[in-house]
Amino acid sequence: MEETVYREHGIYLDNTATTRMSEGVKSAMDPYLTEQFGNASTVYSYGEAAKNAIETARETIAASLDAKPSEIYFTAGGSESDNWAIKCIAGEYKKTGNHIITSRIEHHAVLNSCEYLQKLGYRVTYLDVDETGILEPEKIQAAITPQTTLISVMFGNNEVGTIEPIGQIGALAREKQILFHTDAVQAYAQIPISVRHYPIDLLSASAHKFHGPKGVGFLYIREGVRIPSFIHGGAQERGKRAGTENVPGIVGMGKAVEEAFANMNLRIRRETMLRNYLIEKILHEIPDSRLNGHRTKRLPGNTSFSFKNIDGASLLILLEEDNICASGGSACNTGEARISYVIEALGVPADYAPGTIRMTLSGDTTRTEIDTAVLSLKRNIARLRGK
Ligand SMILES: *Cc1c(COP(=O)(O)O)cnc(C)c1O
Repeated sequence: MEETVYREHGIYLDNTATTRMSEGVKSAMDPYLTEQFGNASTVYSYGEAAKNAIETARETIAASLDAKPSEIYFTAGGSESDNWAIKCIAGEYKKTGNHIITSRIEHHAVLNSCEYLQKLGYRVTYLDVDETGILEPEKIQAAITPQTTLISVMFGNNEVGTIEPIGQIGALAREKQILFHTDAVQAYAQIPISVRHYPIDLLSASAHKFHGPKGVGFLYIREGVRIPSFIHGGAQERGKRAGTENVPGIVGMGKAVEEAFANMNLRIRRETMLRNYLIEKILHEIPDSRLNGHRTKRLPGNTSFSFKNIDGASLLILLEEDNICASGGSACNTGEARISYVIEALGVPADYAPGTIRMTLSGDTTRTEIDTAVLSLKRNIARLRGK
């Protein structure tokens, strides 16, 4: 029954934009939306229950990263975590230097935070990536100056799925005593990440990208990193992020982490297999198609394609008529189709770039759904090409 209700919405291949909250997460949150409504800062038992639930979620999340619970700070999602890391580290280390290094393919939460800092007088270097979306560590090395205080490079890209060489970039940063932040919103809970293995100082994540609720996330801050409060007020989150905690959200995120890590290896294997099946099928069955991003250094569920002489927006409308939810590689601006800055940064040829479509899988995606989506794509692309 549950299955039918869900499938009525069609074939959902936009799991990068957001994911469906799991039933387990919903059940875990339920008591904290009703009977267990206590404020975690109060002393009676309702408050105690809320506080315990928050700390349990913090422990679960910390364990998933090989971090300490005291290094996990709850926020209202990925955008807030990125803003906090970038603006507050820049501010705190202003006396040491005013230079930040990032990439051209970051999420807007990072790019626009950097642009804001430029208005305040900071210098920001936006590094180019190669045609597969990889930021070569040598480019970072060459961009570092004595003024550099922060390097921010995403773990996995949200448009084209490329996984960056985070270990090498982090090692470079550490060698030069520069702080390293990674926006891991697309990678966390999808692939294993250990802050013991990777030299990461700050890491952003968001629950709604891994079957948790919207409006909640966290920032991992390595012990010893000096960072000012992002929201001033009460003593919540050790005085760093004031405001009564989003108890149901935090509990839901904890549950989503538990579920994601319980069957992670199996899910990665299955999702990667289905993803590769989709890639092979499209490249083989649809003429003049190309895959964007790296063939193997790629998030398990991500595919991004560009089709020659196709208007992506028109294709998305036709897909929607077939009940298929995908997304474009371009943002429509006053009726004029613009190429996404990520697709531009990868140097996708001009006759391909406007025909960019992203289809992203989840653990729930089936082979039948992939087959249906490919059939629809084939038919609709032929139609748009007038064949
Ligand atoms: C979705 C996303 C964000 C923003 O997260 P929200 O929780 O929606 O604010 C940031 N970075 C990346 C890479 C994302 O995919």
